[in-house]
Amino acid sequence: MVRENEIRENEVAVEVPPATDAGLVFIGRISTPWTSRMETPRQGRHDGPLCKIEIFEPWRQALRGVEAFERLEVLYWLDRARRDLVLQSPANSGKVHGTFSLRSPVRPNPIGTSIVKLEGVEDGVLLVRGMDCLDGTPLLDLKPDRTLFKPIAPPQPGDFQTGDDEAHYCRKA
Ligand code: SAM
Repeated sequence: MVRENEIRENEVAVEVPPATDAGLVFIGRISTPWTSRMETPRQGRHDGPLCKIEIFEPWRQALRGVEAFERLEVLYWLDRARRDLVLQSPANSGKVHGTFSLRSPVRPNPIGTSIVKLEGVEDGVLLVRGMDCLDGTPLLDLKPDRTLFKPIAPPQPGDFQTGDDEAHYCRKA
């Protein structure tokens, strides 16, 4: 069941400490077909509808090279979620789970992540499939899907601290 903002049976809310300023900036905006949480998918799918990610200036030049990746990791700010629940009942059944054992939008820092399929890039706008957020959700960051990305910088000593002598950080097929 999808919540608006209600607290359910056995759920626990805490008093949220004052926000610290992490200096986040919203770098864009995500356009999707969904204006209600009652309709939004719980997790995006690569055969879902085409969505647009608009990148704001001055960040557009940071898109250089993204078209080389079939999939991107998108980080976004679930701006309409409450942030104070430590125990949640996703099924509204009275059974509760710790927030950090869930991918619920309700969390102290409501960051959502999705791996999306990149369908196109044009004039600072990405066309993607695989989103699961409300229309207008602010964008925090974009990265290549880690399984497609081989680090460009050389490995560091920590990359070899694996129990054997191999660097495991760059497993690109
Ligand atoms: N894929 C992301 C993840 O795993 O981190 C988000 C998953 S979260 C379960 C997706 C749900 O968050 C949607 O079904 C919707 O109910 C809710 N949601 C989407 N956009 C939101 C927003 N901007 N503010 C608050 N809730 C949102």
